[in-house]
Amino acid sequence: MSTLDEIRSYVERNADETVRIAKKIWEYAELSYTEVRSAAELENALEAEGFSVEKGIAGIPTAFLASYTEGSGKPVVGVLGEYDALDGLSQVAGRPEREEIVPGGCGHGCGHNLLGAGSFAAAVAVKDYLKNNGIEGKVLFFGCPAEEGAGSKQFIARAGYFDDVDFVYTWHPSSRNEVPGKSSVAIMGANFIFNGIASHAGGAPHLGRSALDAAELMNVGCNYLREHMIDQARIHYAYSNAGGTAPNVVQSHTVIKYEVRAPKVNQMQELFTRVVDVARGAALMTGTTMDYEITMAFSDYIQNKTLAAVMSDALVEAGPPSWTQEEYRLAGEFFRTYPKSTQLNILEQLAEYIDPEEVERTMLTRPLDSVTRPFDPKETRYESGSTDVGDVGYAVPTVTLHVATAGLGNVGHSWQNTALSNSSIGMKGMLKAAEVMALAAVNTLGKPDLIAKARQELLRKNGGQYVCPLPEYVQPPIGKY
Ligand SMILES: [Zn+2]
Repeated sequence: MSTLDEIRSYVERNADETVRIAKKIWEYAELSYTEVRSAAELENALEAEGFSVEKGIAGIPTAFLASYTEGSGKPVVGVLGEYDALDGLSQVAGRPEREEIVPGGCGHGCGHNLLGAGSFAAAVAVKDYLKNNGIEGKVLFFGCPAEEGAGSKQFIARAGYFDDVDFVYTWHPSSRNEVPGKSSVAIMGANFIFNGIASHAGGAPHLGRSALDAAELMNVGCNYLREHMIDQARIHYAYSNAGGTAPNVVQSHTVIKYEVRAPKVNQMQELFTRVVDVARGAALMTGTTMDYEITMAFSDYIQNKTLAAVMSDALVEAGPPSWTQEEYRLAGEFFRTYPKSTQLNILEQLAEYIDPEEVERTMLTRPLDSVTRPFDPKETRYESGSTDVGDVGYAVPTVTLHVATAGLGNVGHSWQNTALSNSSIGMKGMLKAAEVMALAAVNTLGKPDLIAKARQELLRKNGGQYVCPLPEYVQPPIGKY
C-alpha cells in the first residue's frame, strides 16, 4: 500500500466523525473567545483518539493543546485548528439564496468549522500512521480561537508552546487547491489617549487645553507621514472617543485607535514608532498629555519554502477533490447570487489563475477548482490582510495549504461562504485538506535533513529566536472583543 493510500484509509476511517464535528461547530457559530462548545467538541474527539489535552492555554479559556506521543516523541509536528465564527453571517446550510437561521446571528463565513475539523482529521491520521508503523514522533493539535478577533496564536507563541515544535502544517478553506506563495502583512493596533483641560469654549478658551485638537493634529501629522513611508505600508485610524458632543466645552479627553501595517514585522515596528512620535508632537503642540496602549499585533506571514515544496508535492500526489455534476451546478448557483458587478470583478480576478479565454466557460460548466496549483517560491506578492498564523511562522517552520471548500471566485466572509461551509462541497474539501496535510507530515517526519533545512530558513528570518511583537502587558482581550 502506498503512503497516500494508507493516509487515505485513516482519513476515511474517521470521516464520519470529522464531518459530524464540522457540522456541530458550524451550528454553534461561536464568536471570538466564546468558542466554549466548539473547543469542547474538538477536545473530546481528540481525547477519544488517545490524545492528552491541556485546556485553557496561554490564558485563553477556549485555547487548548492536544498531544499524542509515540516512542521518544521526536520529531514534533503541529497542526493548527480554528473554530470561531463571524457576526451577522447566519445562513441556512447549502442554500444559494439569502436566508438567515437567526436574524442578525453569527455564521461560519470564513469556514473555520471546516478548518478545525479538517486539522483534527489530519492530526488523527498522522497519529494512526505513527501508531500502526511504530514510528517515533509527536503530534500536536493547537486549538486556536479568535482568529477573527484579536487572535490567539501570538499569545500561544509568546507563552513558548511552539518552542519545541519541528514544523507546523495548517490549512485554510479556500476556492482553490494550492500551496499559496502570497504573504500577509504585519499589523499593530493601539489606542492613543490624549488628556487636556476642560474649559468654557466661549468664556475661557485660553484656560482650556484641547485633547480633540491633539487627536486631530495627530491625524494631520500621520497624513504627512504617509508621504514618507514605504508604498506597501498602511496607517488607519478611527475615533473611539472624540471627547463628547458639546462644542462649547473644550474637550479634555480623547481616544483614537490606530492600526499600522507593513510587509515585515520590523518595518511595521519602525513605522509604529514614528506614529508614536507624531502623537507626542501633537500633545506638545496642544499642551496636552499623551499615553498609548498597544492592543494587538500580528507578525507577517511567509511560507517556509523548504516545507512548502513538500506540501506542494503532497497536494499534487493527492489530487483535487473529485466534484460531482450536482456540486458544479450548486457552485454555479452560488456564483450567480453575487451582484453583476461582483461577478465581473471575480471573472477578471480569475483570469490570473485560469486561461483568460477559458474563464467564462469554466464558470458555466465547472466552477469548482478541479486542478491542483503547486507552490511557486517566486511568488512574493503581499496580501494586505493579516493573520495570527504569522507569529507561528516566526516561531517554527510553517506552511499553509488551501483546498477548495467553495466555488471559484467565492468571496470570503460572506453568507455564501457560511452556506457552503456546511455543504458536501465544504466537507469534501475539508477531508482532502486532511489527507494532504497528513501526507505532507509523514513525508517530513522521517527526514531529519529536511527538517534541519527548514529550521535554517527560519533562523534567517527570525534571527534565531521568536520575539513577540506584543509587549508583555498586552493580555488576551477576553470579554472585550
Ligand atoms: Zn479565516
